[in-house]
Amino acid sequence: MKRKDVVIIGGGLGGLAVALRLAASGCNVTVCEQGESFGGKMNTWESGGFRFDTGPSLITMPWIFAELFEAAGSRMEDHFDMISMHPLSFYSFDDGTRFTYTTDLPLWLETVKNLEPKDVNGFFAFMKLGARLFEISKDSFLRKPPFAAPQLRDMSALRHFPVRRAWGNYAKVVASHFQSPQLQQLYNRYPTYVGSSPYQTPATLLLIPYLEFAFNGWYPKGGLYRIVESLLELAQSHKIALLSKAKVTGIEHQSGQVKAVRLENGTRLSADVVVANCEAEDAKVMLNEQGAIRLKRQDRSMSGLVFLIGVKKTLPDLHHHQIYFSADYKQEFSQLFDDQQFPDDPTVYVNCPSRNDRSVVPGEGEALFVMANAPANESGEWTESKIAEARRRVFRRLRRGGFPDIENNIVIEDVWTPDKIALRYAMPGGAIYGTHSHGWQKAFLRPPNKDRKYRGLYYVGGSTHPGGGTPTVLLSAQITADLVQKYELA
Ligand SMILES: Cc1cc2nc3c(=O)[nH]c(=O)nc-3n(C[C@H](O)[C@H](O)[C@H](O)COP(=O)(O)OP(=O)(O)OC[C@H]3O[C@@H](n4cnc5c(N)ncnc54)[C@H](O)[C@@H]3O)c2cc1C
Repeated sequence: MKRKDVVIIGGGLGGLAVALRLAASGCNVTVCEQGESFGGKMNTWESGGFRFDTGPSLITMPWIFAELFEAAGSRMEDHFDMISMHPLSFYSFDDGTRFTYTTDLPLWLETVKNLEPKDVNGFFAFMKLGARLFEISKDSFLRKPPFAAPQLRDMSALRHFPVRRAWGNYAKVVASHFQSPQLQQLYNRYPTYVGSSPYQTPATLLLIPYLEFAFNGWYPKGGLYRIVESLLELAQSHKIALLSKAKVTGIEHQSGQVKAVRLENGTRLSADVVVANCEAEDAKVMLNEQGAIRLKRQDRSMSGLVFLIGVKKTLPDLHHHQIYFSADYKQEFSQLFDDQQFPDDPTVYVNCPSRNDRSVVPGEGEALFVMANAPANESGEWTESKIAEARRRVFRRLRRGGFPDIENNIVIEDVWTPDKIALRYAMPGGAIYGTHSHGWQKAFLRPPNKDRKYRGLYYVGGSTHPGGGTPTVLLSAQITADLVQKYELA
């Protein structure tokens, strides 16, 4: 049988992962990436000997990454070391409370007991609920295509759901398990892992704190971009054609079957199968579908405001991950989603990989990734004065949270606004996780991995099933590759 020609629109993590899986199945694969480099949101920036990851900084479920390397005929451990983080992170609260978060159970229980003795039982009940959700979803929702409409009656796995609690509101379920305001704020942070508000997401997302606690957070030595570099090496050995600065502007079809993609530069690439790793709605625009519009503002997950900072001073008291919480979390999310504004008092995340990995700094100093959540607004809103004001608020929160004074030691600084994120990754508003997860339909009924109308058209990545975040994107690649295998290669 003739080898199938597969064209992938987008060289993000999802695009590269599905490319490797399909090349390993015997397809001729071409990846078209509109940007200059591959990896999409999992990217890198270097200056003055400081190397920064510009996107993800924490890996969960590392075995999903190892599975991809295995599917590509390799072993993850031959490419880089994955380090387990102990402690996982440091938390600072507005009232002066500070502690480290660890997945070492006895150590963590001591902290919980000191904050609120009654919350020890709440913690166990919370984790038990997360464990049940994980058990139910790990071989169904997370590994299989979404249920097609006629199968909705057949959702046997859901019969076992701890329904009343799991379909409730995330923040309310957190409040019913923890009395300590610090533990409430800490556990309310997890829906931000999918760019959403804890006050609007379903409690099913408490799968995330469970997963992180049960399996810990990880860091690949050399930085997260090592993962992309390794996948690119494997792509070369599988003879995958990698085209950068190759923006796809159209998908051609005939009698309901995709035939080719067209690039902005006029090139036409014929294809038996097209896999869209771009925002799913953008594929509809490329198909010239009537009424197709890019991801609407009200549906977007959060974006971020990121400062990449190289300091010449070594800061031994910093941790790999630290979070400086705002005084009023509810107000922060109301400003982000209801008012679509950068918060007056943002929660600030500081990632300092150089604490565990000196290869990312030029000898002395630290490489800092400083991030606050920001709304995924229309482009053009991030003026110089708006950036300066937002930076002032970020540093005010850091000072208040006890972060060391670094202003006179900064040697490198680069800012990534939602505008820049939108432009770099062709993502409306710079919405990091595509659609938000507010309400269970948005959270769990994402666009399917196989197009319902066009034969040969598939989707992969954060904007499709099962959703955003690096391990989930890799699961989406596995689901999509399985579908291509079933419908196109069998
Ligand atoms: C600041 C930040 C922090 C994050 N933190 C974490 C974290 O700690 N942990 C975690 O798990 N996840 C994190 N994420 C999210 C994670 O990076 C994403 O969920 C994941 O990388 C998305 O991969 P993807 O393949 O779905 O999409 P993308 O990475 O967006 O890839 C899509 C690619 O398609 C390309 N493209 C779009 N349109 C076209 C076109 N017309 N033609 C050709 N190419 C096109 C884009 O340029 C892009 O490269 C973070 C992301 C950011 C930005």
